[in-house]
Amino acid sequence: MIYCGSCGSRLGFNHYINERTLASGDPKQYERNTYRCYKKVDNSKACTGQTTYMAAWINEAALKVVRRFFSLAKRTPNEEMLNAALNCTNNISSISLKHAEAAVKDAEKAVSALEEEAVKSLMGEKSLDISIINDLMPKKKATLEGAKEHLASIRLEIEAESAAKEKHQYELKSIRTWADTFDDASFDTKRMIIAQLLERVTVHRGYKIHINMSITAKQFFGTDTLNTTLKAS
Ligand SMILES: [Zn+2]
Repeated sequence: MIYCGSCGSRLGFNHYINERTLASGDPKQYERNTYRCYKKVDNSKACTGQTTYMAAWINEAALKVVRRFFSLAKRTPNEEMLNAALNCTNNISSISLKHAEAAVKDAEKAVSALEEEAVKSLMGEKSLDISIINDLMPKKKATLEGAKEHLASIRLEIEAESAAKEKHQYELKSIRTWADTFDDASFDTKRMIIAQLLERVTVHRGYKIHINMSITAKQFFGTDTLNTTLKAS
């Protein structure tokens, strides 16, 4: 999930121990966690970025974004976040449903009115000319079939929407739980949460860090709100 901003390859985690001799003559070990661009390690000309980045600085930048996300989530009401995720399509569908139902009713009325005319004509009552009835009937029936198909597709759309809403509600619940527990969570839990929220961390020379949020995180605030560029200090 961490990439080199210069060559685009994945940065690899590296833990190294360096031993130096102090002025007193005693050896002292230094430990460092870093992310390295192995493309650059293999061939210094293949990448114009840095070879090594301090892991702690990059992790700090990622944590900052995650904490900002949580503080924004805590300040935003559930309904607002769900609507953003659903892109407000909910109301449009319920209006479309009413229109589609009305269209089916109208088409049914038109067909049964013609059928009544046909019966009247057979009984010798005063009615539309039978040739007009025969001409209109297939058209009215086709309109009815079309209206029924449209209504069925709207109903499917509404079903899909309600499934999506359920999924978003579940995701939102997880986000709220994470927001409340993140600071006290274990290292592994924090890692898991960060992996759910961040899609890509891109590191450029001089620790310019660009962070892309995952869809799970982004959808609740519309797009791009949480794309961010941090300069780690
Ligand atoms: Zn690189």
